Amino acid sequence: MEMTSSQYISTRGGIEPVNFADAVMMGLATDGGLLVPARIPKVSQATLEVWKTLSYPELALEVMKPFVGDAIPADELKALVDASYATFDTKEVVPVKPMGDSGLFVAELYHGPTLAFKDVALQFLGNLFAAILKRRGGRLNILGATSGDTGSAAIHGVRGKDGIEIFIMYPEGRVSPLQERQMATVPDPNVHCIAIEGTFDDGQRVLKEIFNDLPFKSSMHLGAVNSVNWARILAQVVYYFWGSFRVQEALGKEIPLQVCVPTGNFGDIFAGYVAQKMGAPVKRLLLATNENDILSRFFNTGVYTRGDVHPTLSPSMDIQVASNFERYLYYRVGEDAAKVKALMEAFKQGTPICLEGQDTDFAAGRGDTAMTLATIKKYWEFYQVLLDPHGAVGVAVAEANPLEGTATLCLETAHPGKFPAAIGQALGDESLATHPALEALKELPLRKTILKPELPVIEAFMTQEVKA
Ligand SMILES: *Cc1c(COP(=O)(O)O)cnc(C)c1O
Repeated sequence: MEMTSSQYISTRGGIEPVNFADAVMMGLATDGGLLVPARIPKVSQATLEVWKTLSYPELALEVMKPFVGDAIPADELKALVDASYATFDTKEVVPVKPMGDSGLFVAELYHGPTLAFKDVALQFLGNLFAAILKRRGGRLNILGATSGDTGSAAIHGVRGKDGIEIFIMYPEGRVSPLQERQMATVPDPNVHCIAIEGTFDDGQRVLKEIFNDLPFKSSMHLGAVNSVNWARILAQVVYYFWGSFRVQEALGKEIPLQVCVPTGNFGDIFAGYVAQKMGAPVKRLLLATNENDILSRFFNTGVYTRGDVHPTLSPSMDIQVASNFERYLYYRVGEDAAKVKALMEAFKQGTPICLEGQDTDFAAGRGDTAMTLATIKKYWEFYQVLLDPHGAVGVAVAEANPLEGTATLCLETAHPGKFPAAIGQALGDESLATHPALEALKELPLRKTILKPELPVIEAFMTQEVKA
């Protein structure tokens, strides 16, 4: 039988197809691959015409329906989507604006509760987990390790939800005070912040050890919220349609656009790739990295090979290996799971991935620290647009890579108020970067437990908290 867009298979070919709810609960496929829909539906021109008239939550519902199938009834999915975007501070959810006469447009993805684009996916994922647990019964204990942004967006996605506890580890004294406040001031009893005495890498190591402790994992119903979860990708597909429609309206022309994406783990831009395959008016995806340029090198040379991690002003893009790249690889090699499995296993042993030819759906560039600072300054002085350092990397790369005959939409992934030090460095005045929601946190008490990054210590703490 022909498979559908609501059945999920592994990029490594080792699992029987599962439905949407199982794919969401599984996170990473059990064969070590990533889950992808068996088919990506193509949207007709007539449907696109209707989609142009929809509000953001209405559009989100239509984009998601074919991927959800009958795993969640349509009325329940609608309620869930509406609730997920009602927490944003603007009715548009993702406002799209021209940046002066620069010829570039910006999509503000930072209007959610933690002021970064991860809210677009994690507000939805939190509600989705709660809905799936309600139908199936049972509980979920989420464990994550964060160097900053993901932890707070995940916490805000599940705070106060029945049947869910969340444990987030971060390195004590090594995240910014602002980032710590966004996590550790949340008062809900199901939120547990663990400040570990160590580095981010210690957190990652103990996280892996705990997920490999299979008896603990199953008795605790342990779940993950990292960016390999398919539901996170799905929620991000929506704004590629939304953003392109809004720019087309502003231009008064129905031309396909270039979309520029500040990239770390390749989750956001992979969502753009799915949107393009569905028929969104996206002519080319422009991938922007900072000095951690494994992905921009890949798209320019065809060789995917590990580099060292360089700390930059855009920390959420400081990655070495992009966890969602495998999904792209799967399509790039013609949906050949055996080939993906062989390439990924060899990569793990240290062999670079080398591909022939170029993918004309993509272009890529690198914006370094000097370009980031100069771009923040230029867009503030010329256009009174205050970019955050991640968005600025994108804008710098967009300026260097125009696409003839069309406009570029730049994704702005965080509010500048989250990165006052970088704004201070660019403009000489940190106080330009403020947000009332962040100011309000300064008054609130911190709620955290300081622990050693050791498996028995963390597991004992989790067990005790879940019992209580
Ligand atoms: C996570 C993040 C990114 C990178 O997104 P990916 O999906 O990992 O490519 C960019 N900017 C900000 C502010 C982020 O939090």
